[in-house]
Amino acid sequence: MTDTVHVTDVVLFPNLYIDGEWRPGSTGDRFPVVDPSDGSTIAEFAVASEVDCDAAVEAAAAAFPAWSATAPRVRSEILRRAWEILTDEVDVFTEIMVRENGKSWPDAKAEASYATEFFRWFAEEAVRIPGEYRLSPAGDKHIIVTHHPIGVALLITPWNFPAAMATRKLAPALAAGCTTILKPASETPLTAAYVVDVLERSGVPKGVVNLITPKPVGPAVSRMLAHPAVRKLSFTGSTEVGRDLLKSSADRVINTSMELGGNAPLIVLPGADLDIAVEGAFLAKMRNGGSACTSANRFYVHESVHDAFVERMTERLAAMSVGPGLDRRNQLGALVSVKERDKVADLVDTAVAEGARIVTGGAKGERGAFYAATLLIDVAHGSTINATEIFGPVTAVVRFAEVDEAVSKANDSEFGLVAYVFGEERQAIQVGQRLDVGMVAINRGVISDPAAPFGGTKQSGLGREGSTEGILEFLETQYLAVTV
Ligand code: ADP
Repeated sequence: MTDTVHVTDVVLFPNLYIDGEWRPGSTGDRFPVVDPSDGSTIAEFAVASEVDCDAAVEAAAAAFPAWSATAPRVRSEILRRAWEILTDEVDVFTEIMVRENGKSWPDAKAEASYATEFFRWFAEEAVRIPGEYRLSPAGDKHIIVTHHPIGVALLITPWNFPAAMATRKLAPALAAGCTTILKPASETPLTAAYVVDVLERSGVPKGVVNLITPKPVGPAVSRMLAHPAVRKLSFTGSTEVGRDLLKSSADRVINTSMELGGNAPLIVLPGADLDIAVEGAFLAKMRNGGSACTSANRFYVHESVHDAFVERMTERLAAMSVGPGLDRRNQLGALVSVKERDKVADLVDTAVAEGARIVTGGAKGERGAFYAATLLIDVAHGSTINATEIFGPVTAVVRFAEVDEAVSKANDSEFGLVAYVFGEERQAIQVGQRLDVGMVAINRGVISDPAAPFGGTKQSGLGREGSTEGILEFLETQYLAVTV
């Protein structure tokens, strides 16, 4: 079982990928990859030792001169091929995620499509890297501004979107001409291995993409950040780990992009169309089973629509079919692990102890890491569940009376990733513009798009991914002064 993983007709090797070669780690150690819907072991993945991490950095460093000098059109066409293969193999991509992450089939399929699109988008951006020319105001020189790939980029990704977080980093890095080392979450290395396998089949030269899974992760990452060849760190994960990585990056002044935690407010204004608000709120909360940094976490609902909103949202949540993602009819899958599921259950118990009431859900599944779609009312602003990123299928509703009060409560957070506003369009836009967040969805529940800049303010991170900005995160600006 442990040597290969069969998904439909694709065979995956649960190994490291270094310098164009799939290999076991130098120590021979392995760790289990578990299906959270039943606790079974799917594969034993290779542990990367310090020797392996060094080898990955060195391979990426050796590949950099040739890759950065490769014509943009050639880089673009490799990325385009990756988009084509992933589009053809969408069911394989989906199934791997379902099995190691536990998410439902529809959630995994939506992620597979979203993840795949980053290759098409950045294939198009690779040939459009901007530059600038101007005559200096004094007329003495030509000012020529160009952008160059930064160098070796370390990409660290979380388990909640194992595909999209990898492609959202790999695609712009490769488009820019950087070489890469991908470090996926240890819960979901198979999705990463599959993406790397697709890039290999697309024609990425050896050393340009490397895959490592060190355990323990902290010392291995610190060691790589101390290596003189590593010039870029792109991280998606918790604010806590992000802060530590910023500190480690300071020693060598490494260029960082940080996509960190969120605590997204969702505001339902008086006069909101409840058909739109309930549908949008359902998507904003339940996409990916609530395990998303963009997931609506704090529901501020105006008292004039509160009861109707709660009633209709409860109906939607209670009707969800919960169960293993391999049964494609299930709408809510498992959480990634029993540990994560128990964190969600503890948050709900604490909320109840602090005065909230459960309207629906509030129970663990009998088997596997399942938790019912849950709705809580009478949640207090500032209570534990309101101030914590839930990362699970729990809707926690706070009632409000004045719009200004909702805005100030929504802004009362150290996070500033995303917000959702439902209401009459003009008022909703005005409210959205007063929110200190990087992204605002107006009368809709899904905001992510490869063509839009993804990122947050405050402690939600630094930099943007996707869009025309995403590639700039992997480029260094150079200015040439040429005498007229
Ligand atoms: P999450 O709670 O979403 O898993 P984490 O921040 O714990 O977020 O993990 C995100 C990624 O960061 C994973 O790939 C994880 O292995 C990695 N990671 C966790 N701790 C460290 C650390 N000390 N140094 C570097 N990477 C880490």
